[in-house]
Amino acid sequence: MQTILTGVRVNEEPTLGNFLGAYLPMIRLAAEHGADSHINMFIPDLHSFTTPIDHSKLYRQVINGIKYYIAAGLDATAPNVHIYRQSRVPAHSELCWILDCFTSFGEASRMTQFKEKSSDSNNTFVSVGLFNYPVLMAADILLYDAYHIPLGEDQFQHLELARNVAIRFNHKFQQDVFTVPASEAEQIKFMHLENGLRIRSLTEPQKKMSKSNPNDKSKINLNDRPEEASKKIMSATTDSVGTIRFDMINQPGISNLLQIEALINNRPLQDVISDWAGQTSYGDLKRKVADSVAHFLADFQERLADIDDATVEQILAQDETYANEVANRKLHQVQRIVGLRKA
Ligand code: ATP
Ligand code: MG
Repeated sequence: MQTILTGVRVNEEPTLGNFLGAYLPMIRLAAEHGADSHINMFIPDLHSFTTPIDHSKLYRQVINGIKYYIAAGLDATAPNVHIYRQSRVPAHSELCWILDCFTSFGEASRMTQFKEKSSDSNNTFVSVGLFNYPVLMAADILLYDAYHIPLGEDQFQHLELARNVAIRFNHKFQQDVFTVPASEAEQIKFMHLENGLRIRSLTEPQKKMSKSNPNDKSKINLNDRPEEASKKIMSATTDSVGTIRFDMINQPGISNLLQIEALINNRPLQDVISDWAGQTSYGDLKRKVADSVAHFLADFQERLADIDDATVEQILAQDETYANEVANRKLHQVQRIVGLRKA
């Protein structure tokens, strides 16, 4: 049975970008493949403080993160759906260390996300954890032999690193120890997309929407009040072209709104583009998208309020036992191969 795996870090409130780029594809894939694949949707809580956070909030954010998966539509009771916290499966950290020694400093240094985040003036402390996080991500994936990893476009370089490390390790020990995850092109096809998804910042649409962006107007948080979110859409940065067209290079703000409108209503992007083709009122488009986003948030938040902590605890108790079994099996195999355990 194949494994499909994804996780969303919970350092800050998740955004609409996370929802459309990671939650939604995974939930659709779970519905499509859940009968014959394992669906691992975990919370990468060890990734949460690669950049500085308020630790007093972390535990709550993790529990909420799990509620978000369920509110987004993941059927946590389905037998093949597994929800777990990375920190409760120690094999992730242990495999990370082993993989660190099979990852070159040069290849880790090439990660654009590290370069961007380490040079960001808002980031007051550049940790070794931030540098090392793609290797931990490789461990998250390789421990479970996951082949399909639904991700946003920003994570493809890290996925490529996981593939390279797996190939290198298998080659060195002349065994198929790790399943090599599918290539970027295959992942995109599997998600039924034409390109990797990149929802843009509302204030600087040439950049992606990021939950760690301190400018609250740049992003729709999943806990924004619907009317607050509408206002952010209404004041989104656009352009001076004056015609509605899908053109991410020259009109990224308008294109982003068209993209959000399509994804949130589960409509083909081409249909939404045709609806608005040639129209000139950016205000009308913003109002339509603002309404769609407000409706979506109201529904989502209502579902979220219905999920209690006890339900989450129960799911975790069961699924973390499963995750430890699977992950330890792989870790022990690796430990035997590298000489840490009797072969
Ligand atoms: P941070 O700013 O802390 O890095 P983030 O918003 O980039 O937060 P991540 O935790 O890094 O979120 O990523 C979680 C998942 O959400 C990944 O699969 C990532 O590809 C996806 N994702 C993040 N931002 C976007 C976006 N703007 N569009 C589409 N997918 C996104
Ligand atoms: Mg990110």
